Amino acid sequence: MSKETQRRPNGWLVPLYVVAAPVYVLRFVLSLRRAWGLWRISRLGYVDCQHCGEENAIDILATCPRCKTVEYGNRLRCTGCGLRATGFPCDTCSVTIRCC
Ligand SMILES: [Zn+2]
Ligand SMILES: [Zn+2]
Repeated sequence: MSKETQRRPNGWLVPLYVVAAPVYVLRFVLSLRRAWGLWRISRLGYVDCQHCGEENAIDILATCPRCKTVEYGNRLRCTGCGLRATGFPCDTCSVTIRCC
């Protein structure tokens, strides 16, 4: 392959990036929304159940569903295996609380 063919961009690649750009913007906005939600929950320390309205503490003695590490701390994140959960069962009614 000569140097000229390496420098010239493929004709179909630029339109592909143009078509994909809104998808990347949407993914960025969704990741920002998720990060904002997690930051807000971590700052408050509690999250309300959407079903029964009870407050559920984030920092409790929790068991990781993947590696079974039992530790005090943020129930949405395991320091043993690095699992980042998006929800957990309500302590009162057991309905899954989605945090992001
Ligand atoms: Zn774990
Ligand atoms: Zn509940």
